[in-house]
Amino acid sequence: MCVICRKRAPKGDLARYVCPRDLAADSLVPDPGRNKPGRGFYVCGEPECREKFGKAEKGLMKKCKGVCI
Ligand SMILES: [Zn+2]
Repeated sequence: MCVICRKRAPKGDLARYVCPRDLAADSLVPDPGRNKPGRGFYVCGEPECREKFGKAEKGLMKKCKGVCI
């Protein structure tokens, strides 16, 4: 499910990002292979979602803390 528009889409249409291992990092880590451990966030291919995802990244990062340390 896309974290921005909440639409369900086939996994192949969603880009996966995971929380960085390094807590000092300030951006999510792209996971093209979909095999990285940890909390994953998915975003669909809509340009609007991609753009909003960039802005929402900081908020999503907060969810990371405490989950994947
Ligand atoms: Zn979307």
